[in-house]
Amino acid sequence: MQEKGSISIHTENIFPVIKKFLYSDNEIFLRELVSNAVDASQKIKRLASLGQFNGEVGDLLVDVKFDEEAKTITISDNGIGMTADEIKKYINQIAFSGATEFMEKFKEANDANEIIGRFGLGFYSAFMVADRVEIQSLSFQNGAEPAHWTCDGNTSYEISEGTRTTRGTDVILHVNADSTEFLSKFRLQEILDKYAKFLPVPIRFGTKTTSEPDGEDEEGKPKYKSIEVDNIINNTNPAWTKSPSELKDEDYLAFYRELYPASMDEPLFWIHLNVDYPFNLTGILYFPKIKNELEIQRNKIKLYSRQVFITDEVKDIVPEFLMLLHGVIDSPDIPLNVSRSFLQADSNVKKINNYITKKVADKLQEIYKADRKGFEDKWTDIGLFIKYGMLSDEKFAEKANEFCLLKNTSNESFTLKEYYEKVKDIQVDKEGNIIYLYSSDVNQQDGFINTATAKGYDVLVLDGPLDTHFASYLEQKGGEKVQLKRIDSDIIDKLIQKDEKIDLLLNEDESKKATELFQKAINRQDMNVQIEALKEDELPVSVTLDEFMRRMKDMAKTGGGMGFYGNIPDNYKVTVNGNHPLVKRILESSEAEGEKLAKQAFDLALLSRGLLTGADLTSFVKRSVEMI
Ligand code: ADP
Repeated sequence: MQEKGSISIHTENIFPVIKKFLYSDNEIFLRELVSNAVDASQKIKRLASLGQFNGEVGDLLVDVKFDEEAKTITISDNGIGMTADEIKKYINQIAFSGATEFMEKFKEANDANEIIGRFGLGFYSAFMVADRVEIQSLSFQNGAEPAHWTCDGNTSYEISEGTRTTRGTDVILHVNADSTEFLSKFRLQEILDKYAKFLPVPIRFGTKTTSEPDGEDEEGKPKYKSIEVDNIINNTNPAWTKSPSELKDEDYLAFYRELYPASMDEPLFWIHLNVDYPFNLTGILYFPKIKNELEIQRNKIKLYSRQVFITDEVKDIVPEFLMLLHGVIDSPDIPLNVSRSFLQADSNVKKINNYITKKVADKLQEIYKADRKGFEDKWTDIGLFIKYGMLSDEKFAEKANEFCLLKNTSNESFTLKEYYEKVKDIQVDKEGNIIYLYSSDVNQQDGFINTATAKGYDVLVLDGPLDTHFASYLEQKGGEKVQLKRIDSDIIDKLIQKDEKIDLLLNEDESKKATELFQKAINRQDMNVQIEALKEDELPVSVTLDEFMRRMKDMAKTGGGMGFYGNIPDNYKVTVNGNHPLVKRILESSEAEGEKLAKQAFDLALLSRGLLTGADLTSFVKRSVEMI
């Protein structure tokens, strides 16, 4: 019995088009064929459990083999198999029905995934790498005859009696000349590791050598012999498919290592996702240790559909700020094979996105409530990510306002509400604004911090990469009339202006003279001298940088804010304390001596904020030595 036929397709030469079009993604042929084999295996199990198959299911196994000489790759399973009629129906008709449509639409498609899923070209992806494909199959049905199908990549096929003697299917690819890269153990292993690592049926890829105990040698030491065992490449029962109640911390950590064998750090904590309504989704998301830099690793979340790896581009499915997380999401309800714009508009995708955000916020809240101390300790690692979330997602921010922490220079932690309460009566200026003072660098701004704390004020530490944006966020959402001012953006009495008035001891002439003298001594265009009436014991000179301009520039640097601020030079303010005895002394000295003293006082102010460098620093040291 032999039958030739022609595949019902109107357009000739579909294969060259598919092959060419899908060239860059052609490794997914293996994912498609192995998934089909897994499906066939699961079907036999299901039929048995439904009582529709009474034979022995046996140990299900998908076997991937290759033969370099014969140039073949064979994918075998002991699943339900197909009769000749079923091959005609499923392979010739179903798999090809999409092909016609494909020919009409392929011009719109953006990538291989899109085409393969949308047009049901799963099986036919084999022709991306093979110029002839054979199927040997024996159906599970009583009295079924083995069938053999072969197709050389044109629209005609041959079907004849097959040779399989046991239930199941072999798909044999005769690899084409362009695709010999796949006839390699290394390459196939790589593809299987990527797509098949967590498939629900054991996948065997050749054998591997291991050792087992083999008695003792003459000295009584244990002996080992090497043996060949099946190389099963997958874990059929990964942690995310289990119920959270079955899993201990060790299991979650072990699964993390399984996902990221190269990772050095342990995750901080994790969230087990598990929903079945209104969409189906399971998964485990891990919070990695984030160093306080923007060296964030994206695309670490892997997307699966029924344990088949699909992609690690989870943009749109996972909210932007959660892209920092690691782990796995598995959902058959995500339209995997459609274009990006379609994905964004998909209502399931939106729901999933919201669900994940809510779960993450709930988990953080739970940890915060259960163990505030532990939460404070983790803040260094999770703070950046929580702030990112608050800045980018309003819903998340609503929840996070409760557990977002602020740290001060004494390393004490406060929630936003607690902090507001702490400073609202002390750090209030004459207009009723509540001023949050913050430092972006506690070492460099130590002098400013000391002046503020000596006055009984508190100083926050906001030194993270997003903190400029976060400062603006706090002004908008952190409490009524809250203003944030960096500790070095003006002298402290200007930052928090009280009603009390201090008289200036200089008269108008002296004041004018002092301004000119300092301006001349400093000799810089970007520094504006201002005489202020401060207490005698405060520093004679301080150099500050206006909060508004600086913040705009910072934002321009980290994205956001208005770009052109980035090009404006820094404009420093030099505040001279007109009431300091030094100023009097300078005015009474000779011109040369006065200028030297003014320069010295100014250099000290620069030095205290780390701005004195290069030749200026050298001449400062020289001058200081002369003076002592
Ligand atoms: P899909 O898997 O999306 O249905 P495919 O083109 O990959 O599309 O396969 C078409 C059909 O061929 C499958 O639905 C299945 O019925 C049948 N099939 C493919 N591979 C096998 C196999 N290894 N064992 C049994 N049936 C198979």
